[in-house]
Amino acid sequence: MRYLSIEPTKPKVAVFDFTSCEGCELQLANKEETLVDFLKAVEIVNFREVSSAKSDDYEIAFIEGAVSRSDEIERLKKIREKARVLVALGCCACYGGVNKLKNAFDLSTANREIYGNYPKDSMPVRAIKDVVPVDMEIPGCPVNKEEIERIIQHLLLDINYNFPVYPVCVECKQKFNVCMFEKGQLCLGPIARAGCSAPCPTGGLGCYGCRGPAADPNYDEFFEIARRRGFAEQEVNERLSFFGGFNGIAMGVQK
Ligand code: SF4
Ligand code: SF4
Ligand code: SF4
Repeated sequence: MRYLSIEPTKPKVAVFDFTSCEGCELQLANKEETLVDFLKAVEIVNFREVSSAKSDDYEIAFIEGAVSRSDEIERLKKIREKARVLVALGCCACYGGVNKLKNAFDLSTANREIYGNYPKDSMPVRAIKDVVPVDMEIPGCPVNKEEIERIIQHLLLDINYNFPVYPVCVECKQKFNVCMFEKGQLCLGPIARAGCSAPCPTGGLGCYGCRGPAADPNYDEFFEIARRRGFAEQEVNERLSFFGGFNGIAMGVQK
């Protein structure tokens, strides 16, 4: 809509997928009641999942997924050159995500086991920031739609968005949930970053930390709680490595 004969600028937005399940992209297209406003606020110029537009002229690039093939490195570098703002969208892009579990195996053996006589190009999984500079990371598996909307508002107004620094436990307690530890389940809520509204413990599943660590988490106290509740180091460490966000953090390892 024009105002005083001035056409408001709509940033050109592109969305690209790398190694991922495309669930975070789908979150952008979800929620019909705000979709029209979103499409009025930005110009989608490249978004394979929802549009046939294929322009290389964009200002904001959302990158979903991790890097796990050599051709993805070149593609990502080209996108970085073109984008003024590059946003890592979702846990795979921020941390490697579940794809990173592959790094625990010998790649050539895994390739042979899975693809037999038809091996695929495959390399250790890396987060986007490990390949090119990233301006913003939006965590979550998938990303939280309400948070995405707040972030897009901030991007459009060119003001900083501050992610919650407190852990998932805060949002979980706001929902009056009975703690999963009381039910005998492991939960990373005390050390995981909030902002998701704690859907997992609310639904009866301990947190897996898809949003990565909260600010300044007290790992020692968390490990002590897990120990007191009878959880083995292996179980805790498998949980910590599930989404790749707690890289280098492990129970039973001297810091
Ligand atoms: S973060 Fe989760 S939902 Fe998003 S692309 Fe990766 S696996 Fe899919
Ligand atoms: S269920 Fe998990 S997130 Fe909720 S209070 Fe307990 S430890 Fe924290
Ligand atoms: S509760 Fe934990 S695993 Fe579930 S969405 Fe939130 S951060 Fe991710």
